[in-house]
Amino acid sequence: MNGLVSEVTRLGPTYVRIALEGDGLEGFEPNDATDAYVNVAIPPPAAPYEPPFDLDGLKDLPREQRPFRRRYTIRRWIPDTRTLWLEFSIHDVTGASGRWASEAKPGDALVFTGPAGSYRPDPGADWHLMAGDESALPAIGASLEAVPEGTPVIVRVVVDGPADEIELDSPGDLHLRWLHRESGHGEVEALADSVRDLTTPPGRAHAFVHGEAEEIRAVRRHLLADRAESLADLSCSPYWKRGMTDEEWRQVKAAWVAEMNADLG
Ligand SMILES: Cc1cc2nc3c(=O)[nH]c(=O)nc-3n(C[C@H](O)[C@H](O)[C@H](O)COP(=O)(O)OP(=O)(O)OC[C@H]3O[C@@H](n4cnc5c(N)ncnc54)[C@H](O)[C@@H]3O)c2cc1C
Repeated sequence: MNGLVSEVTRLGPTYVRIALEGDGLEGFEPNDATDAYVNVAIPPPAAPYEPPFDLDGLKDLPREQRPFRRRYTIRRWIPDTRTLWLEFSIHDVTGASGRWASEAKPGDALVFTGPAGSYRPDPGADWHLMAGDESALPAIGASLEAVPEGTPVIVRVVVDGPADEIELDSPGDLHLRWLHRESGHGEVEALADSVRDLTTPPGRAHAFVHGEAEEIRAVRRHLLADRAESLADLSCSPYWKRGMTDEEWRQVKAAWVAEMNADLG
């Protein structure tokens, strides 16, 4: 599949929403998950081909000419206009997708496969917890819209500073707090500490904890060690790892996740 950039909206200094439209989205089948994601394919700078391309046709190219694969969450799918919203944290313009998103302009094509994904706020939970960083904001934004009216939902998100906060809405009873790295909330435990400090509503929670590997591991450890009794379900996945490109991360991710899962629980 592919989409053509129809609109680029800068929501913060390093955060951009990109709307995709066009005939390449015909037949796009969304799934029910609010953390649904697509796997985009971004050509390296000197690639001898241009998007839109057929991914299968590139399999025999030397590795350095094949596209970089990166996962991005579907912030919104608008079937009437066949519009797909993706949101990119442009944390490092040397990264393939950070660079693509920072330069994207109407008419550019983006090739992708998918979607996949599995989380959706359980309508039977008494309350919800969502924690992560910018990479999880699209999933948190989409998930908040699926929280039942009036149900408490506590959100903790780490971003660089106040200018990086974006608007988030929910029919639920939203309790949102932003943590700022620039004010000293940058260390690995900051997200876990903010969850540790929570006074939570009564009943069973459904939790969504996605983002930087070490940060979400610390949150997971706390939830399972100290709040297991009030946890109905936990969706937890390390989207990226500080200091590693996605290629490097994917090589060690399965072993790292197995180690994380052995922590507790
Ligand atoms: C299922 C899934 C869904 C995701 N959805 C989104 C999404 O909707 N939006 C989004 O922005 N990201 C999302 N991510 C994370 C994104 O795929 C990674 O951050 C990816 O590594 C970015 O690729 P890149 O080419 O820009 O940087 P890379 O080439 O992978 O990395 C370059 C450098 O930047 C660092 N880096 C990578 N990601 C970040 C980050 N987020 N913040 C700070 N430094 C970083 C790396 O550690 C490395 O040092 C998702 C990941 C998964 C697994």
